Amino acid sequence: MTASDASSAIWHPFTQHGLREPIPLVERAEGALLHTADGQTVIDAISSWWVTTHGHCHPKIMAAIADQADKLDQMIFAGWTHQPAEDVAAGLRAIMPQSLTRVFFSDSGSTAVEVALKMALGYWHARAEKDGGRPRHRIIVMEHSYHGDTIGTMSVGERGVFNQAYEPLLFDVARVPFPASGARQETLDALEDLCKQPDTAAFIVEPLVLGAGGMLVYDAKTLASMHEICSRHGVLFIADEVMTGWGRTGTLLACEQAGIEPDILCLSKGLTGGAVPLAVTMASELIFEAHWSTDRARMFFHSSSYTANPLACAAAAANLAIWREEPVLERIADLAHRQTEWLVKLGQFCHFENPRQSGTMAALDLRTSGEGGYLDTLAPRLLAFFRERGLLLRPLGNTVYVMPPYCITDEQLGQVWDAIGEAVISF
Ligand SMILES: *Cc1c(COP(=O)(O)O)cnc(C)c1O
Repeated sequence: MTASDASSAIWHPFTQHGLREPIPLVERAEGALLHTADGQTVIDAISSWWVTTHGHCHPKIMAAIADQADKLDQMIFAGWTHQPAEDVAAGLRAIMPQSLTRVFFSDSGSTAVEVALKMALGYWHARAEKDGGRPRHRIIVMEHSYHGDTIGTMSVGERGVFNQAYEPLLFDVARVPFPASGARQETLDALEDLCKQPDTAAFIVEPLVLGAGGMLVYDAKTLASMHEICSRHGVLFIADEVMTGWGRTGTLLACEQAGIEPDILCLSKGLTGGAVPLAVTMASELIFEAHWSTDRARMFFHSSSYTANPLACAAAAANLAIWREEPVLERIADLAHRQTEWLVKLGQFCHFENPRQSGTMAALDLRTSGEGGYLDTLAPRLLAFFRERGLLLRPLGNTVYVMPPYCITDEQLGQVWDAIGEAVISF
């Protein structure tokens, strides 16, 4: 069954309804598979937009949600607490960088980033009150970045067709170029210059992989150098690991590969294994202390109604237990290895360019006669091609990427890459 425009009132995200593309109705999911109401089985090769880590409907996560549902639903979190949230905070403290001592809950990657930006400006505001002088407010961002779709997160992201209409509402930021291979030094020099400016508050970056910007990868050495520059100038380093966290790049955090600890860390997507929405912004003691006071006018003024939802926290606690009890990193290493093999195999075709990989994510660009970029005419045709073959792949313009749940089988992964190879011959 397909819900047509006529029968549904739903306005879908990132969907042009005027194109009247079919909108499949999904009934069930398990592992790497989605099952539609009309009986089709679909391989979810992009982890349902990068959220699903272990696989759909992981029994331990679903059981934890069901158990929690018997006990406690949403409750106020301002000045109150509950055990699932305490478990998540303690679990995160045990495995996340040691300097990140505080856990602030919210409900999406975008809000985790908004909170991070507010924490950074709050920190500089408090410091200015104490030491005198003007508080720092300028945010440095990286070209091609994506941090979400709210006004604040669009402001720190790449400007383009996505946010053209809202440009008048977006705040000013300073940009460094993407550290493409060979252009690394330009990025570092630009960052150094901007960090010297007296109004620079923080640098926000997606470590190792720029996801929505086209699965652009850069090396851990550059990430380490960027962190070194920021800390030398006292500029706060915000790592947006909403996509890269939870093993995507081969390690629990991408920052690990650079041996760095950010001042502020944003996590969401895989925090609950991808089952239900939840996010955290973790902060160093310095950031927390800047907001610490006996003056109520200086507390951190942020909350959302569903902060630390108990069901979502139960799912996150179950995810943390899976990371403790199951060989997740081995699974990730194995998947990364299989991805490399396929990338090498397909990278040989002259129709492909720029094969690239970071852990479980593998991408390549199809040579196109179109203009390239997100609106390249190839993208919708590819989408339909893959959908006909029972595959959920959603190319970013002419960039095809595979980012599956860690449980995907050899056979399922083979089907995905075979179809990508086939697409090249057909287009
Ligand atoms: C997905 C994503 C976000 C936004 O997360 P939402 O939960 O969709 O709001 C922010 N940053 C990065 C790097 C992302 O990939």
